[in-house]
Amino acid sequence: MITAIPIRKAEIMPHQWVSRALPSRRCPRISAWCFLDYLHQEKNNESNEHFGINVAPHPHIGLQTFTWMRQGSIVHEDSLGNHSVINPHEVHLMTAGRGIVHTEVSPNFLDKAKEINLTEIESLQFWLALPKEKEAIPPTFKRYPHLPHFEHQGLAIHLFMGEFLNHNANIPSHVPLMGADITVSTTETKTETHTLPLNKEFEYGIFLTHGKLNINQDTYEAHQFLVLDKALTELSFTAEKGSKFILIGGSPVTEPIMMWWNFIAHDQQTIEEAMNDWEHYPSSRFGKVNHPEPAIPAPPLTANLKVR
Ligand code: MN
Repeated sequence: MITAIPIRKAEIMPHQWVSRALPSRRCPRISAWCFLDYLHQEKNNESNEHFGINVAPHPHIGLQTFTWMRQGSIVHEDSLGNHSVINPHEVHLMTAGRGIVHTEVSPNFLDKAKEINLTEIESLQFWLALPKEKEAIPPTFKRYPHLPHFEHQGLAIHLFMGEFLNHNANIPSHVPLMGADITVSTTETKTETHTLPLNKEFEYGIFLTHGKLNINQDTYEAHQFLVLDKALTELSFTAEKGSKFILIGGSPVTEPIMMWWNFIAHDQQTIEEAMNDWEHYPSSRFGKVNHPEPAIPAPPLTANLKVR
């Protein structure tokens, strides 16, 4: 049994669009993976002024941002003083904890005069909810440039989190998680069946970005998020060559969370305090990031937040 959920569009900055796969009403999260934005842009012509992203200073609390890059690069700067460029098949893991401010900018925005040969940008940004007892830990940032990639049954697999098929990404997490970027690379017939093992303690989701997957008698098209039934012990499928999907999983998280804008907490008061502190940026809580454009204001919080 698989639940297929269509992906919706979200405008993260004016003219800067992403596809939002998580959360959705029918799938608020997969384990601690509680947010997923997919950015994919191809440059059509030289004067494509909205190519890339330029996300001005904004804060986070109570979560980790987990960025996986497929194509192109993005420059991260934060209020701890980190300046880091993420390249294909690398991870940027930023733990917001009690509070951090960052910017995420394509290199072409940083130096418009410089000739930058960037024609395609493709990345995924997840958020991981921190457990309640760790929601206010000190902020940290780390880049992971060397992650496992391997072949398995005609699949090219990049592992970006946890253990899978006897490989380990060696990125620490607060609950057991896995995450892999999988491309169907087989040269065999498209009726070849691929089988991936699933951990019976985990729940799983698939974000299909390219091609089609045939699972049992059903065909799933790209730009859908598939929630796998918890009873599945393996995933068997056929697919055309070049199909690509992200498989994420982890131990079920039962602790309810609240999300508002860029904040995650376990009660409304914590969110309200962060909103107030962000109004006074830069502050002792939300230190400064230098950026040519002003910080992004938070949308007003006028209602009681629902737990998810
Ligand atoms: Mn952010």
